[in-house]
Amino acid sequence: MDIFAMNVFNDAVMKERLPKATYKALKKTINEGKTLELDVAEVVANAMKDWAIEKGATHYTHWFQPMTGLTAEKHDSFISPTDDGKVIMEFSGKELIKGEPDASSFPSGGIRATFEARGYTAWDCTSPAFCREDKNGVITLTIPTVFYSYTGEVLDKKTPLLRSMEALSKQAIRVLRLFGNTTASRVISTVGPEQEYFLIDKKFFDARMDLILTGRTLFGAPPAKGQEMEDHYFGSIKERIAAFMKELNEELWKLGILAKTQHNEVAPAQFEIAPIFSTTNVATDHNQLVMDTLKKVALHHDLVCLIHEKPFAGVNGSGKHNNWSMSTNDGQNLLDPGNNPHDNAQFLTFLCSVIKAVDEYADLLRLSAANPGNDHRLGANEAPPAIISMFLGDMLTDIVEQIQNGGVKSSIPNGTLTVGVSTLPEIPKDNSDRNRTSPFAFTGNKFEFRMVGSSNSIAGPNMVLNTIVAESLCQIADKLEKAKDFNSELQAVLKDILTKHNRIIFNGNNYSDEWVDEAEKRGLPNIKSMVAAVECFIVDKNVAVLEKHSVLSKQEVHSRYEILLEQYNKIINIEAKTMIDMANRMIFPAAAKFAGDLAASVQSVKSVVSAADTSAQEDVINEVCSTLSTFKAKTTALEKAVQEAADITEVHTGAVTYRDKVFTAMAELRTYGDKLETLVDDALWPLPTYAEMLFLL
Ligand code: ADP
Ligand code: MG
Repeated sequence: MDIFAMNVFNDAVMKERLPKATYKALKKTINEGKTLELDVAEVVANAMKDWAIEKGATHYTHWFQPMTGLTAEKHDSFISPTDDGKVIMEFSGKELIKGEPDASSFPSGGIRATFEARGYTAWDCTSPAFCREDKNGVITLTIPTVFYSYTGEVLDKKTPLLRSMEALSKQAIRVLRLFGNTTASRVISTVGPEQEYFLIDKKFFDARMDLILTGRTLFGAPPAKGQEMEDHYFGSIKERIAAFMKELNEELWKLGILAKTQHNEVAPAQFEIAPIFSTTNVATDHNQLVMDTLKKVALHHDLVCLIHEKPFAGVNGSGKHNNWSMSTNDGQNLLDPGNNPHDNAQFLTFLCSVIKAVDEYADLLRLSAANPGNDHRLGANEAPPAIISMFLGDMLTDIVEQIQNGGVKSSIPNGTLTVGVSTLPEIPKDNSDRNRTSPFAFTGNKFEFRMVGSSNSIAGPNMVLNTIVAESLCQIADKLEKAKDFNSELQAVLKDILTKHNRIIFNGNNYSDEWVDEAEKRGLPNIKSMVAAVECFIVDKNVAVLEKHSVLSKQEVHSRYEILLEQYNKIINIEAKTMIDMANRMIFPAAAKFAGDLAASVQSVKSVVSAADTSAQEDVINEVCSTLSTFKAKTTALEKAVQEAADITEVHTGAVTYRDKVFTAMAELRTYGDKLETLVDDALWPLPTYAEMLFLL
């Protein structure tokens, strides 16, 4: 309790340190989106500076989320020279509100080329400023900001997220008014992201060029033991890991992050941390801080935290379950079924808005979870299919079917309601069972979007969710506002939605082969790669919905399309080059030396006992040599493929080549590298093995 939020310039601190009028003006900006006047900012900046200096800060930074998916910061000290050769500590309102980092070294997807390199950061006062403190005592006042170009195009992940929250709020309020709610003035989307990660001993990490450069193992034979014993999930947490988690939690709590749940995950050396949910923009900032803190604190324990979606082949990858719901500012969770039919009607309307949105924009949602790492988790060899479907559980599915069939079997006393759909059935609590295989599952009072990758910023997925649900709600409100008889129009609207979109509902096993066929029959998209997902971005209906709700302009969509493909190409290029390097300079020499050593030993054995049976050694030499020869050929093939892809200047054609030629050549090379690992003397093998990395913790 004492350390929680101690490094956050939050409401309590503001109340204490700001003059009443300033506090009120700032709260108006935060809660109602009113513009912040410079004189107010001046006072806030000064109070913030004093607070930070008392904590030991000498610098401040605007902290933003460019399209790299990471966070960016540039530190400035508070010092300002005086006439007598000394300095005073200053921080102006202008410096708080606006920063001007050079935008030219951040991805802009063509916006930069057409316009200017100038970029601006602007304070997002809906996410509180905080002091970042590292283990050496370096303390920095950190101000969450958005990032945009000279001409106003957004260059970051935060701005469209904030815009999508506005859009959702606007449309949801329209619907709430129709249900007679006159008190709520805003609807806020809420998110609780469960973050999965791996930890390995730093000495193994340091010996693996692939982990250092790409975050995943590019070679590695399967260990004798994997996750088949199911003994790691929820297992007893080792003391070394518990010590790490303790420090992690303390650091997060100091930053006001509601770190709550931690446990061993399915794969050996895999873990999870989940916070209590918060508003989407704060949850997004916090998740970035969680990922950053995971990595930093791990190093204090001689561990390295791997946040890549698939660090190890053959065992589970890491995701980020994005638990999402909508709440009113007067505290009502709109995806909570509630206790009476009046609530039910409203709940079912919001539920249907999500069903409609997820079916109509499944491709956009799939895109929001696409990154190169997630290509190993979605639609790949070891992974579930990349089909978006929705789990509602038996109870809700039954209710949904009743609505669709135009009436309900369950009877509810009539005449007690002033508004709402009196014939809609009541929904019991704990209305859904669990289904771990569903990519989009209703879990009682929220949806859990499970496709998101562990390293992904959650800004994108939530931007899409907010926008597409806003669009559904907009269409529903358009109809209901014109209705003569609210009840019958609502029945008709819900029935219509469910008839059109019930194909998205699937309560079975998403990992089964039958589902792939069934989904195809239902016409659901199965988008198997990031490249294919990115192609959906610029489809007319997707651009239209983002433009309609002022989340992204057409130009911004196109710039993001380019950035995503560019990122894909760069990442596959780095992976391929790392693989070639490891193949030529580590694996090839080790295998050649082993064959040579063995050959020399055969000769020396024969020199003593000329008739000795050395056929076993000779067989192994033979097998190593023939594998090595294919290995070398596959290395050359990969080199050629990389060259071909790198020579392509058009970004989409390049991406297709990286996916279809380079990526496949990498998989082939790996097969022979991993075979060599099983043949070569362990003492000569240049890389830590899977068994060491996964089990020596
Ligand atoms: P699971 O059983 O799915 O692993 P966890 O407890 O690990 O559940 O995580 C569930 C997450 O969902 C938590 O972060 C929790 O705060 C979040 N959550 C709960 N209610 C809501 C809500 N209304 N909106 C968004 N997230 C929510
Ligand atoms: Mg969990």
